[in-house]
Amino acid sequence: MGRIPCTRDGEDLYDHEGYVSSILDDGSSSHGTWTTEIERRTVAWRAECSCGWGGTDRESGGPDIPGDGEYDAILEEWEVEHVGPLLRTIERQRQLESLTETVRIAETLLCDGIEEALARGATWNDVAAAIRTNVYKAQRLYGLSEVSTSLRNGTSRSDTGLCDGPTAI
Ligand SMILES: [Zn+2]
Repeated sequence: MGRIPCTRDGEDLYDHEGYVSSILDDGSSSHGTWTTEIERRTVAWRAECSCGWGGTDRESGGPDIPGDGEYDAILEEWEVEHVGPLLRTIERQRQLESLTETVRIAETLLCDGIEEALARGATWNDVAAAIRTNVYKAQRLYGLSEVSTSLRNGTSRSDTGLCDGPTAI
């Protein structure tokens, strides 16, 4: 009966079904239901969403349910004022999730590279220079001060739980 918004990725947002409701003479909403009694008592129309969002009341065109053109015009408020910001928020969240995953992968690659460099004899001075920081910060960021020890002992990084990425400073 209503419209379901769709993300750019093709995901239907079933929690945000938009529809046109009748506003009755007592101020209540029909929540998208149309009956002869509702039509008789209608004083306004309003775009609503199944999540609870509601648009502004609009003067109804008479006792009948809105025609296709009127229905689309009323629902445009839902699309512009509610669905537009909702889709932009979802898009930003997905971009952040993607960036977070990219950073996680980069951190893993960096940790692997640092571990390998240390295993091949690089010093923390070399590592610090390569990642453009000082030795203290490099060791603190990557928690690798014990990695060389664990490597010498034959313990893998996953065994030690070290180098899970930078720690907050
Ligand atoms: Zn909604």
